[in-house]
Amino acid sequence: MDFTRHIVIVGGGFAGTTLARALEPRLPPGWRVVLISEESYTTFNPMLAEVVGASVFPEHVVAPIRQMLRSSRFVMGRVTDIDRVRRVVSAGTLAGVQEIAYEHLVFAFGTRANLELVPGLAEHALPLKLVGDALFIRNRVLQRVARIELESDRALRRTLGHFVVIGGGFSGVEVAGELADFLAGARRYYPRVQPDELRVTLLQDADRLLLELPATLGAAAAHSLRGRGVDVRLGARAGRVDADGVLLQGGEKLDAATVICTIGTKPNPLAERLGLPAQRGRLVTAPDLSVQDTDDLWAIGDCALVRNHAADQHRPPEAGPAAPVSYAPPTAQFAVAQAQALARNLIARIERRPTRPFAHVSKGMMATTGHLKGVAQVAGLRLSGLPAWLLWRAYYLLRMPTLGRKVRIWVEWTWGMFFAADITHLRFTRTAEADAPSLPPAPTTVSPSQP
Ligand SMILES: Cc1cc2nc3c(=O)[nH]c(=O)nc-3n(C[C@H](O)[C@H](O)[C@H](O)COP(=O)(O)OP(=O)(O)OC[C@H]3O[C@@H](n4cnc5c(N)ncnc54)[C@H](O)[C@@H]3O)c2cc1C
Repeated sequence: MDFTRHIVIVGGGFAGTTLARALEPRLPPGWRVVLISEESYTTFNPMLAEVVGASVFPEHVVAPIRQMLRSSRFVMGRVTDIDRVRRVVSAGTLAGVQEIAYEHLVFAFGTRANLELVPGLAEHALPLKLVGDALFIRNRVLQRVARIELESDRALRRTLGHFVVIGGGFSGVEVAGELADFLAGARRYYPRVQPDELRVTLLQDADRLLLELPATLGAAAAHSLRGRGVDVRLGARAGRVDADGVLLQGGEKLDAATVICTIGTKPNPLAERLGLPAQRGRLVTAPDLSVQDTDDLWAIGDCALVRNHAADQHRPPEAGPAAPVSYAPPTAQFAVAQAQALARNLIARIERRPTRPFAHVSKGMMATTGHLKGVAQVAGLRLSGLPAWLLWRAYYLLRMPTLGRKVRIWVEWTWGMFFAADITHLRFTRTAEADAPSLPPAPTTVSPSQP
């Protein structure tokens, strides 16, 4: 009989893996962490744009969860239900549905991409949320360029070579910059493709990019992207997406065969199924990160609505008690900070000591705008250009889990400084399919499922 008591964590992203690693050395005897996650790896989302731009291989922005953990148990599976009376979670695994008992249960299951914000987005746009999305977009870009070489219709060639990115936040800016550089570097291997046939347009509905950063850095990002040939459209809202472009709300039509979507998230379906206190799909937490009105359930990361008490401490007294409260933003930095705070609180709870409210002062924010260019605000300093880009790379290299991954990324980045980007499009054809009929003739319009 197993007398071990379990802290079960649902979700192996930034929040879940940081929590498991922080708990491992501190747990009292008789306690163990069980981490359940859908995939066997954790994805380093801030680097997904680099996968799109072929600056790094997809395998290098993920880290196997089993290699990140020491004493914890890892279960690959999707949690579908919890039974709060029996204190068990049910997870669909390779061996069918398994029940896992918990003493404390932590929700860290993130959010999903929202493809319902604009009509046609779900059918025709390519979201960037998972590593599979990044790899798919990269392959799609290569397919499009290869197809332009084979087409003779000028209008179709221009539509195929037009890549529209929706969203001027961090991921949109980074993808647009990476794409512009990748296309500029790859074009020389496609001699029948003219420079003006490859274009990147970035759509931002606000009047500036990167709303989370000061206006000067948003302007610096737009300047940097425009310098690389990206058509940055401010105050431009997508009204409809279809198979061959985007209709802007003002009525203008952008002919583009590839639309990449970096806007919007929606709640993970599990959050709705749990029947716990939630606001707009995020689980409402008490100051110490426990789920409101519970004592054995906790929530951190993007799936949790967490009040940041550091902001309260810096609130001027004249703001009064009715001033709006500050919530932690859904970023990797805050997910990691919440995981570290929760590790302390869980140990405190087990040892019957008082828990502490979550408080974190942001260390800053940064984004790349393509090769050797970026913008950053760190410790009150505003940086743009090469210093910001170097800082971005140094920071994310340090944050990358496991030494092996750090070395691989560093080698790849160094390689990328001196050699051309990899334009291999792997099709994963297996022996049984080698002699299958070749691609069907392509129609004159383009759709997301076609090259
Ligand atoms: C393209 C992109 C770029 C970004 N860039 C930045 C950036 O530059 N800086 C920054 O700070 N933040 C960035 N973010 C946001 C950041 O990635 C998130 O805030 C962070 O990942 C949140 O961590 P999390 O652990 O809460 O969720 P996630 O990292 O999303 O992890 C959730 C995990 O739970 C698993 N899961 C979901 N449902 C279940 C279930 N039912 N059962 C089991 N497992 C489940 C998922 O598979 C996943 O592994 C970016 C996000 C994206 C998509």
